Amino acid sequence: MTAYKDLSKEELLELKSGLEAQFEEVKAKGLKLDMSRGKPSADQLNLSMGMMDTLTSGVDLTCEDGVDCRNYGGLDGIDEAKQLLADMMEVPKDNVIIFGNSSLNVMYDTVARAMTHGIMGSTPWCKLDKVKFLCPVPGYDRHFAITEHFGIEMINVPMTSTGPDMDMVEKLVSSDPAIKGIWCVPKYSNPQGITYSDETVFRFANLKPAAEDFRIFWDNAYCVHHLYEDKQDYLIEILMECKKAGNPDMVYKFSSTSKISFPGSGIAAMAASDANLEDIRSTMRVQTIGHDKVNQLRHVRFFGDIHGIVEHMKKHADILRPKFETVLEVLERELGGLEIGSWIAPRGGYFISFDALDGCAKAIVAKAKEAGVVMTGAGATFPYGKDPHDSNIRIAPSYPTPEELAVAAEVFVLSVKLASVDKILE
Ligand code: PLP
Repeated sequence: MTAYKDLSKEELLELKSGLEAQFEEVKAKGLKLDMSRGKPSADQLNLSMGMMDTLTSGVDLTCEDGVDCRNYGGLDGIDEAKQLLADMMEVPKDNVIIFGNSSLNVMYDTVARAMTHGIMGSTPWCKLDKVKFLCPVPGYDRHFAITEHFGIEMINVPMTSTGPDMDMVEKLVSSDPAIKGIWCVPKYSNPQGITYSDETVFRFANLKPAAEDFRIFWDNAYCVHHLYEDKQDYLIEILMECKKAGNPDMVYKFSSTSKISFPGSGIAAMAASDANLEDIRSTMRVQTIGHDKVNQLRHVRFFGDIHGIVEHMKKHADILRPKFETVLEVLERELGGLEIGSWIAPRGGYFISFDALDGCAKAIVAKAKEAGVVMTGAGATFPYGKDPHDSNIRIAPSYPTPEELAVAAEVFVLSVKLASVDKILE
């Protein structure tokens, strides 16, 4: 394989005409494929259908502590669901609140509450001239959408192979009191599949923020979402680290069963210090009498305990792993050595992140679309939808069938080659 940059102009032009001919052939097939959706396939959803059988009309819906799940009550969620999610989030049960069907909703509410009422007695963010958030990039577009929605200024922090650039995080957080938070997906990050190293977690726990109401928004959405049994990432538990570092209130931890049971019909949870949870409950009491306990009970009866979740996630992995491997094989075979893109083979999560030559991502996504393959929009992984290098593309292998994926991946690499040749010829 000769790197494209080492080809002469004549060689590049010849390559281009060959690729264009291939592209026309592919276009003529009239494909309709989608690698943009980070959601489980129907096969994965079928894994949780047994949950439907756990609650039938004859079943007793009383919790272990006597609470009748059919009725009002229990702001924090039922005890057994708190235990299940606490074990999944690796925190004590008393530091968990169970919410509704979406952790993203909980994150939105957390920012909204800080805006209108402030955090633990500090000035509501809406009364401040400026509020800023750090955004590790590439990252999750829906996080960035929340902070954008509230007019919070977002500052890009580059991701490294061990997590966000901590020199930059430490410097900014300790010097600017307008910085009130940072979005983190610490395990199998969206979209790169990176897990923060021990050192990164220690440095987070030991931050010395200029703002007393600075919070780490630790979205552990992919905490049990391994692809392999023998190759798993390990993430240090942040709540305990913050406590040890004398910063017990600095972190809000989020998770949900969305990509374990049913996205949109799972249960979401938040873990934080006692003081933070009391602060949150003071608003929650006004918002709701309690969340859906029947769904909480359904989850507990289906999974039993954390071991049930672990076993269940192996079945997800068996479905997902070949899909990831299909895409990675095509990337390696077709792009290896060409020096027109780089990617990380993740050990878990839902995505593969691809970095094209600078200035090529939009063109690649447009080319793929022309040939019938929908990718996540270029730029989506950055605040305001603006990738300063126009380079990052998120690949979501979970939803299509393996056969569809194989074809879609070939179209993708062809689009990468074409856009890259054009760029080098410019
Ligand atoms: N957080 C991350 C990092 C995600 O990737 C997703 C979904 O893709 C969510 C949260 C959404 O979670 P939920 O369904 O609990 O709102």
